[in-house]
Amino acid sequence: MQVNQFQYSRTVAINLLDSSDNLREKLIYEAMEGYKYAGISPLMTKGIFMRTPGTYGDQALLRLEPAKINSFFSIQSVPVKSSVYSFKNPEALSAFVNELSKAESWVGYSLVDIIPVNGFLDKEVGSGTVTVVCIFEWSSESGLPLMLDRHTIKPMRPVGINGVSCPVKGCGHIVPYMDREGVNLDNDEEDLTAYICPYHNIYILPSTYSYVNPETSILWKNDLDKAAIDKLLKLSNGKRTWKQIAKETNADALAWNTFRYLQRTGRIDEFLEKLLPNFRRPLGNKEETKIIYWSIDLDNGSEWEPLKRVRVKLGQVHGFQYGPDVIVVSPNEITLLNVKFMGQTLTKREIPDTYTDQYKVFNKPIKLVHKYIGNELLENFLIGQELSIKLKRPFRVVTLTRPNKEKGLQQNVKELLSDPRQFVHINWLDVYTFVQEGTDIWSKILARYLEGKTAGYDLAGRLQTLLGIKQFKSDNRNIVVLEK
Ligand SMILES: [Zn+2]
Repeated sequence: MQVNQFQYSRTVAINLLDSSDNLREKLIYEAMEGYKYAGISPLMTKGIFMRTPGTYGDQALLRLEPAKINSFFSIQSVPVKSSVYSFKNPEALSAFVNELSKAESWVGYSLVDIIPVNGFLDKEVGSGTVTVVCIFEWSSESGLPLMLDRHTIKPMRPVGINGVSCPVKGCGHIVPYMDREGVNLDNDEEDLTAYICPYHNIYILPSTYSYVNPETSILWKNDLDKAAIDKLLKLSNGKRTWKQIAKETNADALAWNTFRYLQRTGRIDEFLEKLLPNFRRPLGNKEETKIIYWSIDLDNGSEWEPLKRVRVKLGQVHGFQYGPDVIVVSPNEITLLNVKFMGQTLTKREIPDTYTDQYKVFNKPIKLVHKYIGNELLENFLIGQELSIKLKRPFRVVTLTRPNKEKGLQQNVKELLSDPRQFVHINWLDVYTFVQEGTDIWSKILARYLEGKTAGYDLAGRLQTLLGIKQFKSDNRNIVVLEK
């Protein structure tokens, strides 16, 4: 954010048919020294009389002008005629772009331009528009809360003796060092103002960040999703969970954004079929697959009734905030998911004496099992077994972790089970691969979210990611520059 009085408007040559990700990366990089979008001039690079199929309007000059705070960009290329999309008329295309625009606004970006790429289509007479490239921008004037990702965050951010700089690319705002003994995020908001970047509305911590507005962490912001979140917040523990969701490495935000997508797109059964061995996808659906988040039944905004009864039976007194993060109740099977991001699957809380392994889920005594797999997994198996009897269908416990984490887990847990098929360990790369195969807007948005999801800085100041993406372009412009 160097406001330089000698800065002048400039242009960047781009190829509009470059991948959306590459174009985005390029624009973010070019704008980083304090620029915002000013317009675009497509160039005609091939003669229109050439009758071989191909494009001729794919090159363009993009104009940038100086800004107090650098903009960020998002690119969505929409093929106008392809095997995936075929828009019969401009109205249909407009409706699609409007949906895209809505989804982009939820993560902070506004539509600033639409550029047609023209060419001769194979087996068609004359020329036509092949693709439209939609440019979305987050600018400091737009006022939309920006959801950060690995493309908008500095790949390296060493912590200096003067304090901690804002992790956002191009930002030189510095705040005091927040440590465990002093102020932390649990303090009242007024104690924390010194730790906020006013340009990006985040609390800056030595190895991570947290949004000032928790809802910035949420991908889906239509009325249905907002109503669902209101229901979660009304419950006793809701407020506390909501504040946690603002954190960069919060697993609940990841779980919510992912499973709400699976629910919204109706892909939940397909998802389980793809990732769980021998999952029987319901055919000729009589009963709809239900998803329970943190024990809450969103249909009525209270603890899910069958689970409540199971808890009474097991003697769980610590309230419904514990237990599986997500339960998927499909007509043929119950899946209890433990959703992990930075945390470990093996948690060490004590278990009450009321727990018994009445139905012999485990082939070892329960105290020993607790020692090996911790309370969370153990509880999920006991709950799963009880639900299985109540709802008359088999159950499975699934742990979802980052790729290449907890490698021996699957084997260790299976060895303790009477029926080893009841446990599956999957990772976020599996989820990402599945989501990426979707062709709708929601799949595009979620795939980008998972791909871009950051996991804080390591001790050397290197950015970590959910999927373990380590390759970053060497980027000298990430060196922190103090304001003024
Ligand atoms: Zn900042």
